[in-house]
Amino acid sequence: MTDVTLVLNAGSSSIKFALFPAVEGVQEPVLRGKLSGIGSHPRFTAQTRDGTTPNWDAQLPLHPRASHEDLIPALFDWLERHDDGLTITAAGHRVVHGGREHHGPARVCPTLLDDLAELIPLAPNHQPHSLVAIQCLVDAVPRLPQVVCFDTSFHRTQDSMAQTFALPRALSESGIVRYGFHGLSYQYIADRLPETPLGTRSEGRVIVAHLGNGASLCAMRQRRSVATSMGFTALEGLMMGQRCGSLDPGVLLHLLDGKGMSTTELRHLLYEESGLLGVSGISNDMAELEAHPAPEAREAIEMFCYRAACEMTSLATALGGLDSIVFTAGIGENSALVRHLIIQRLAWLGATLDTDANQRNATSITGKDSALEILVIPTDEEGIIASETRRLLSVQPTSSHRTIQQSRP
Ligand code: ADP
Repeated sequence: MTDVTLVLNAGSSSIKFALFPAVEGVQEPVLRGKLSGIGSHPRFTAQTRDGTTPNWDAQLPLHPRASHEDLIPALFDWLERHDDGLTITAAGHRVVHGGREHHGPARVCPTLLDDLAELIPLAPNHQPHSLVAIQCLVDAVPRLPQVVCFDTSFHRTQDSMAQTFALPRALSESGIVRYGFHGLSYQYIADRLPETPLGTRSEGRVIVAHLGNGASLCAMRQRRSVATSMGFTALEGLMMGQRCGSLDPGVLLHLLDGKGMSTTELRHLLYEESGLLGVSGISNDMAELEAHPAPEAREAIEMFCYRAACEMTSLATALGGLDSIVFTAGIGENSALVRHLIIQRLAWLGATLDTDANQRNATSITGKDSALEILVIPTDEEGIIASETRRLLSVQPTSSHRTIQQSRP
């Protein structure tokens, strides 16, 4: 039997999962998969280490309206049925919001779960799903050690200037501050940077652009977070798939007071109906917009890139200059068009792209005469969760590791 760590990354409309060998230094999972399109058109994909993609869809109840609450136990049952010599000895979870108290990975216990539940209003599209995943495992395998890794932790190195809103001091002291998100992705990239063509230059002034359905930027110096585009919630900053990004707060007052919108309607508008979807009126999906002939699709893409480029220059000021830009996540890793449109707007900084390398999604896409180095590095949130889980459990060893099947009633 091979001991493995189960990693669950529950997003707003997807659940990514992976099984990593519970061995120090191992980066490759033995199995990786994703349940996507939750709430609309659920799809299930899984891939073993050797790239096999058996058709397992039929074994999961993929009802169109199946929720995270339905699918997480189903996924867990599916994993349990695939007993091919693997023993799950620990689980690691992505949790979006750690609030003020949690600065690093933490072992799951009842008090921690109560703390995290209090943060649900600050991450309504993510936090509840992570908690469902944790509780599902607590119920199924009470003695399985579980670890949570926070998206907010990586940004706790920022100084107070970067973290504080221009609000009355008492509100800042009560915890209304800029936390920042996508920290697990940024940590993974920060760890990988020295192995890339940047080498020792990765200690310089780097902006990492995590451009996925959710999108943000992180300004790093010495591979630590100096500033980020997301704030108190994952709404601030860049335009995203369905989220608006930064917005004049006066618009919110107008929608509430002038238009009589309820807070529920407003939350739905800001989290679900805005961004690429709202501007295009077509889709939140960048690949779909790139293939669409309507001018509104192109306008949404241009706006996404305009906003990202403007925000990059703001973060360059926080860094006192800029040496390198790294693109990552679904759009950052795959869209040559988006990278081209963003870098074109940074030409005044001396940034240019190698067009061929950009088309190929090569690691280095720096133009011959570019003043900045520009890279594409695939992120791996599950990988960092697995290694952080192993690291924490090796410091706080558990008395009993049990397989899922052995522990079931
Ligand atoms: P999530 O935030 O859900 O993890 P991902 O990081 O998987 O999101 O990114 C999803 C986004 O990446 C979608 O908008 C998708 O269209 C986009 N994307 C993926 N592949 C491509 C591609 N080849 N060209 C353009 N966009 C792409």
